[in-house]
Amino acid sequence: MALARNIAVLIGGVGGAKLASGLAAVVPTERLSFIVNTGDDFWRLGLKICPDLDTLMYTLAGLVNPESGWGVKADSTVALDFLAQRYQVEPWFRLGDKDLATHLLRTHWLNDGRSLTEATACLVKRLAIRSAILPMCDEEAPTMLDTVADGELGFQEYFVKRSWAPAVRAIRHKNCERAKLSAQVRRALTRADIVLIAPSNPWLSIAPILAIPGMRDLLSQLAAPVVAVTPIIAGDAVKGPTAKIMRELGLQVRASAIARYYRGIISGFVDDLRNEPADFADLRSIQLDTLMIDQARKAALAQATLDWVGSWSP
Ligand code: GDP
Repeated sequence: MALARNIAVLIGGVGGAKLASGLAAVVPTERLSFIVNTGDDFWRLGLKICPDLDTLMYTLAGLVNPESGWGVKADSTVALDFLAQRYQVEPWFRLGDKDLATHLLRTHWLNDGRSLTEATACLVKRLAIRSAILPMCDEEAPTMLDTVADGELGFQEYFVKRSWAPAVRAIRHKNCERAKLSAQVRRALTRADIVLIAPSNPWLSIAPILAIPGMRDLLSQLAAPVVAVTPIIAGDAVKGPTAKIMRELGLQVRASAIARYYRGIISGFVDDLRNEPADFADLRSIQLDTLMIDQARKAALAQATLDWVGSWSP
């Protein structure tokens, strides 16, 4: 196959943004389109917060906090502290001052009648990002977690307020049946020479994207290869609740369970060198070093993945 021209990536937050950063280092950034989970989005103090969109925007703009992988670097929390100290607003969801500027402007544009896709495109342009950053849909389709002890929790209540401690027995994507594939998302996927699924949490970050009516069919009908990268390394998640949720849902914490989850959509799977070699049935697979602990390794994984897929015979 010729060198990939256009690359579309289904992506969540911090784990996915590492691969995004690697891709941006090895291909012209205007060839990259990211289709981003918005199941984590919520409203806080009247502001629309889109954590995964923001993590990716800040990463590609070189603004991300390198310690956490989310939020803006060298940010302060003057507003949040004032809210807590003077107005007794519980500061459970951290909002930096610079970060607040993003939420203010996005909410202003949404109130003005722009869609989330349009508002995001305006933010992306002003941050001088040349890649397309596309919300998975414009409708709100929040991820809800049915927990054993506390019933159904909204995503941020589960993830941030409760530090993903509650055991999960089911996950649903509220109102996803009303969500639509935007023209921009459809175009990015149909024009792509390669579609990647980032090593994001399959259940919390990728499942909401796949729940949009028509998304699975579109992905399974693409002529372009669709390739997922494992978020599971050496029998565990690198970070976050992926492995914990897999256990709670009765799945084995193995890369092969991730590949099985994407069956029917993916044609290839990038496993990690540290995992036991597995049988991926009819999928093409390769074992690479997928642990992206620095910028060089992010770029190396992106390049090796593209080289591997590029070597497939047509
Ligand atoms: P979140 O929305 O911020 O939780 O981030 P994502 O859903 O995008 O990513 C979380 C997933 O990324 C977890 O399952 C991690 O195991 C995975 N992850 C994080 N860092 C790495 C890495 O360096 N390599 C690989 N292969 N997976 C990673």
